[in-house]
Amino acid sequence: MPDQKSLEPTNADAQSPASWSAPVFRDNVLGYVQDLMRNPENRVPPERVVLQLTQDPDFQTVLKSWESLNGADRVAAWKKVLALAEHHAREVLPACLMCGECCRMGSPTLHLEDLELLQKGAIPWEAVYTLRRGEPVHSPFKKDLFFLLDERIKVREKPGTTECLFLDGQTQRCRIYADRPLQCRAQACWDSAPAQDLSTQPYLTRRDIFKDVELVMDIMVEHDRRCRFDQLVAAFKEMEASKGATVDKVLHLLAYEEHFRTFMGEKLGIPDKELELVFGRSFAALLPLFGCAVKIEPDGTRVLVPDKGDTAGSSTS
Ligand code: SF4
Repeated sequence: MPDQKSLEPTNADAQSPASWSAPVFRDNVLGYVQDLMRNPENRVPPERVVLQLTQDPDFQTVLKSWESLNGADRVAAWKKVLALAEHHAREVLPACLMCGECCRMGSPTLHLEDLELLQKGAIPWEAVYTLRRGEPVHSPFKKDLFFLLDERIKVREKPGTTECLFLDGQTQRCRIYADRPLQCRAQACWDSAPAQDLSTQPYLTRRDIFKDVELVMDIMVEHDRRCRFDQLVAAFKEMEASKGATVDKVLHLLAYEEHFRTFMGEKLGIPDKELELVFGRSFAALLPLFGCAVKIEPDGTRVLVPDKGDTAGSSTS
């Protein structure tokens, strides 16, 4: 933290915040943050703190209203901004400089600490989905398939890509930067240690989200029990060994799983877009991992057809 001298504004002609124009106010904020980060042991660039501060809604409110504030209110607002800058300087983890590279390689997996972001609406419920225990997923680095040992909740990716849903396609900036999840805050191009340290942080699960809604918990457990991924994998292996003769077993599992989620979703009043959070991805959505897709004929019967591309390629970390 800076000494008292560095609390003074950098503009020598205007020592009191009461007389600063908005551009002078901005310059003095930048100067203050530079002072805060002057410690040579600090590996975080001052720009990171500036970035985080300028995305803070409280800071933006002060900036927008600065010209209309009277002298006493400007002094009070300046003190508030100093406190905000110190907060962000303390709180900020080494993180990317918003080049968007990480955001294009995959969406974040959520930790327990991120639950608040969902509860306050910073991340909408329909923007996340569940990868259930035992679900086949791709490793983000090797792209090989493995089966999840524990449940994970992830932010969605844009359809057919590995790009995070919140990456703005035009600006290549995060649309929820001030409220981005823990994993994103820990990403550091220049140091992989903070992100690796996150493995000791508890991951968010559906149990954390729905623990107070007993009925949803019961239905989720029942869905997990009746619609397990190992059943689907076993049915595909059997179909392969029988050269397609047992395809009905696969189709039956698909139909049953879909019926379960649709029926229970309607009964519990769960919006369609949130079904993948409550029940995870459907069996049908995972078919591309087995090289096929399901097609519904005009008479309503289902047939398996070759998949045109891998569209189920969720990855996790
Ligand atoms: S939430 Fe924001 S920072 Fe995190 S991966 Fe998505 S776009 Fe990037």
